[in-house]
Amino acid sequence: MLNQFKPTWMFTSIFDVTPTFLLEHGIDTVFTDLDNTLMPWDKHEGDDRLNTWLTEMNHFGIKVIVVSNNSHQRIAEAVDPLNLEFISRALKPTGIGIRRALKQFHLKRDKVVMIGDQLLTDVKAANGSHIKSILVKPLVNNDAWNTYLNRQLERVVWYQLKQKYPDLHW
Ligand SMILES: [Mg+2]
Repeated sequence: MLNQFKPTWMFTSIFDVTPTFLLEHGIDTVFTDLDNTLMPWDKHEGDDRLNTWLTEMNHFGIKVIVVSNNSHQRIAEAVDPLNLEFISRALKPTGIGIRRALKQFHLKRDKVVMIGDQLLTDVKAANGSHIKSILVKPLVNNDAWNTYLNRQLERVVWYQLKQKYPDLHW
């Protein structure tokens, strides 16, 4: 029950995830959440850190695909300038969007990792789709109103996870 929320790895920020780390674990494709993982939810534009990170991933041949619950239009506005492919209305915490992405881009499950800032959506969707996951801290501390309840529930889940897996840490 609790295992469905357990991330494979944890990093403070997506920008701390290096190509070397990914390649060492046989990963060649990153699925990433958009809001508060790649960009602040209230400011949909990339900064220098994002540009540098994407350039580095590209340099090592690691594909980055945005998998977000947001609408096509909102994601397109944010990521088209970055030339990123994306899956919209991914319906996380279900695995529907992740499975759609695996199929659409002809990817192997064990070579993909899902990176996101929410245990209850990103990590659960990854585990439900049998792909690896990385939990990161949200880029900004506030959230959209519809994320608020999730964050409250997340605290409860996080507490239980820590009890069961004391080694989990940032
Ligand atoms: Mg998010």
